[in-house]
Amino acid sequence: MTTPAEAPDRSSALDLDACRAAYAELQALGLRLDLTRGKPSAEQLDLSRDLLELPGRDAFTAADGTDVRNYGGLDGLPELRSIFAELLNVPVAQLLAQGNATLTLMYDTLAYAMLFGVPGSPRPWSREEAVAFICPVPGYDRHFAVTEELGIRMIPVPMTADGPDAEAVAALVADDPRIKGMWVVPTYANPDGSTVTTEVARRLVSMPTAAPDFRIVWDNAYALHHLTDEQTPSADALRLAAEAGNPDRVLMYASTSKITFAGAGVSFIGASPDNIAWFRRHLGIQSIGPDKVNQLRHALFFRDADGVRALMQEHRRILAPKFAAVQRVLEARLGGLGIASWTTPKGGYFVSLDVVPGTASRVIELAKAAGVALTPAGSTFPYRHDPDDRNIRLAPSMPPLDEVQKAMDAVATCVLLAAAEAAAG
Ligand code: PMP
Repeated sequence: MTTPAEAPDRSSALDLDACRAAYAELQALGLRLDLTRGKPSAEQLDLSRDLLELPGRDAFTAADGTDVRNYGGLDGLPELRSIFAELLNVPVAQLLAQGNATLTLMYDTLAYAMLFGVPGSPRPWSREEAVAFICPVPGYDRHFAVTEELGIRMIPVPMTADGPDAEAVAALVADDPRIKGMWVVPTYANPDGSTVTTEVARRLVSMPTAAPDFRIVWDNAYALHHLTDEQTPSADALRLAAEAGNPDRVLMYASTSKITFAGAGVSFIGASPDNIAWFRRHLGIQSIGPDKVNQLRHALFFRDADGVRALMQEHRRILAPKFAAVQRVLEARLGGLGIASWTTPKGGYFVSLDVVPGTASRVIELAKAAGVALTPAGSTFPYRHDPDDRNIRLAPSMPPLDEVQKAMDAVATCVLLAAAEAAAG
């Protein structure tokens, strides 16, 4: 509702000629800015520069005496696994350390499921007549790309402030055995920043599912990536699933991609003993063992879980002002106009912006023509289709602070022009 006091603001802010003039001024600036992907900035990567000198030419023996230069050690280096077992609240024996990308681990998990089935599968998923996955929206485009590529039909379910709409999920999975699983980013979700509460987690791990082999891909990419003192803890999904009598339902993933180097970190998979045995059985055919030199480098660099926590504080020091700038500009330029809403994440890498329905692709097109690259329209939805053409993912981590401010100002100008155009018909 627009109050009378706000009405003049709104009509002048959405005056089409004024919006066009502001946009022309923006274009004249000749900007070249990029808010597309959640990459760490160079300043953040520099926090882990010491990694480039580790382990050093004389350090190649793991705590258990293994020569990390050689083959073997499929499960990953025990000392690094134990640091992340503490941080992720998983027993070491149930946490494997692998290569540089959880995306690979998640892809492999679903590829194994398609080819061989998971523990409890009546047959390989690919031999079912159809396989479907629940996709909370807005969500992570690369998740959706994996399920799309593997021929898994995607069913969107809305996100709420407490994570996926658990009642909607429960209703869908209760009597459709084709639905074999779902994507979840439990902490500071990509892109809406929400965190799954313990209640929602408990519902998801205990709801009856028609498929006997239903899996939750619990992608805890941002478990440690706090932006405030609140430091929201992740729901303990593996324990909750075991308590609910569904120990195999949850597969958890995390990596150091946004802790050390996005391109040269370490990834982790945590799950029930049966799931881990299943995963490593197939993994052991694919690989003789992961890059243990990189794992040793990371173990020496972190030293312990507190080393990781301290590093995350440094990331926060760099990231928090950028996220604050996004909020400041959005509030100053779009606040109170009733044409946009956005999230205020307490962690993670993204802000989710909803604009006037039907205008997200126009905003992104206008921004592009003004030299500001945004994630393509529809990216946060399965099949790149946002039915309301409304959602835009903002990723402010990579550009320096002054560029984040300029880019957000440009985004606001484009949101206003697109809204004015829509209002003018
Ligand atoms: N999951 C989510 C939710 C992400 O946002 C990202 C990075 N954008 C990844 C996974 C990728 O992680 P990794 O580098 O470990 O493959």
